[in-house]
Amino acid sequence: MDSPPPARARISIIGAGPGGLTCARILRRHGIAATVYDRDTDADSRNQGGSLDLHEDDGQLALREAGLLEEFFALARCEGQETRRLDRAGRLLAHHLPDEGATDSPEIDRGQLRDLLLRSLAGGTVRWGRALVSVSGPADGPRTLTFTDGTTVETDLVIGADGAFSRVRAAVSPATPRYTGVGFLEAWFDDIERAHPEVSALVGNGSLHAADGERGLFAQRNSGGHLRVYFMRRVPVDWADATGLRLEDTGGVRAQLLGEYAHWSPRLLRLITDNDGAYVDRPLFALPAPHTWRHSPGVTLLGDAAHLMPPLGVGVNLAMLDACELALALAHSPTIDDAVQRYETSMIPRSGHFAQLLEGGAEHLLSVPGFDDVQRSGPAQR
Ligand SMILES: Cc1cc2nc3c(=O)[nH]c(=O)nc-3n(C[C@H](O)[C@H](O)[C@H](O)COP(=O)(O)OP(=O)(O)OC[C@H]3O[C@@H](n4cnc5c(N)ncnc54)[C@H](O)[C@@H]3O)c2cc1C
Repeated sequence: MDSPPPARARISIIGAGPGGLTCARILRRHGIAATVYDRDTDADSRNQGGSLDLHEDDGQLALREAGLLEEFFALARCEGQETRRLDRAGRLLAHHLPDEGATDSPEIDRGQLRDLLLRSLAGGTVRWGRALVSVSGPADGPRTLTFTDGTTVETDLVIGADGAFSRVRAAVSPATPRYTGVGFLEAWFDDIERAHPEVSALVGNGSLHAADGERGLFAQRNSGGHLRVYFMRRVPVDWADATGLRLEDTGGVRAQLLGEYAHWSPRLLRLITDNDGAYVDRPLFALPAPHTWRHSPGVTLLGDAAHLMPPLGVGVNLAMLDACELALALAHSPTIDDAVQRYETSMIPRSGHFAQLLEGGAEHLLSVPGFDDVQRSGPAQR
């Protein structure tokens, strides 16, 4: 089958995360329609998680192409660029205060970013409650999407923006994510200024990282007086079942954490003892690095679906940059196949480079910086 011109092609994006929505938005600005399918039942059906820092040369660049940079800055927290790094005794090892007017990596809540992108799309662009099962059909297209509700859709281009456990990925590659050996356990605090003033003072306006080589924690402010903390631990993927704990058992999980962090300063332990609500388990997975595949007409990947890495502050930025480059390639190429080839030629080596740099990086989150590291890195790194 001849590859159709993008403006006349049926384009399906699987996943309404930051990558998929950015792609749909930039396509729309160039007069190209796409349909986004997401397994969530609606935009608010799931807690979107914590705060993200968007960098000037990738996440912000994509928002500029999307025509949303000004709206982003109306929501973003520039003061959230403050970072603190402590040892387990609570001693400050590094402290970065952003310069007045610095905009290199302001923070935004994941939910706010999703809403901003959703508002910028035409009504009906996103089809909620559509969980993809598989992509089938001949290599030269068209492809058939099959969803869990039994429905099918025929499409000229399927863009896999469906995250870590992508169902689209199998259409181009046999790679699957592997557990890194490090798990995040997420907890949060509400009404931080009034209900948790000591925790608020400890973390400051941005984020705090502390580690002792075996375990660590990463606390970050979110908007609306909320704060999230991730306890970062070297644990088996099924640690909760293995210890007979249920995550809803807040007291039991807290006691487990207090045992593991027994040698930490009481000031830092307030992050374990004072949190509100239940815990969320977030085991970290990564794709083998570099993840590459042979070009296949009519199917491509972006973001975590293409290059899942440990969360060291680049994932969402790369997802949005991928989305931007793919949308622009579609806007400026004669056929979808030309556009996808052009996009993959640049995206695959770039993401492979980052994935190799960050391979094993989950362990880095648990490491204590030596004096030299602190000197070299300056501000606490995420
Ligand atoms: C704890 C944690 C903290 C992080 N912090 C940062 C950070 O500070 N900075 C940073 O840059 N990155 C961070 N990351 C990484 C970042 O979250 C990801 O890289 C980014 O969200 C990838 O965007 P995406 O659009 O590719 O995928 P996702 O955000 O995962 O979106 C995928 C979408 O696809 C949908 N979906 C999934 N499967 C299907 C299916 N079968 N059918 C239909 N829809 C489907 C999902 O519902 C979702 O909406 C963090 C990750 C974790 C786990």
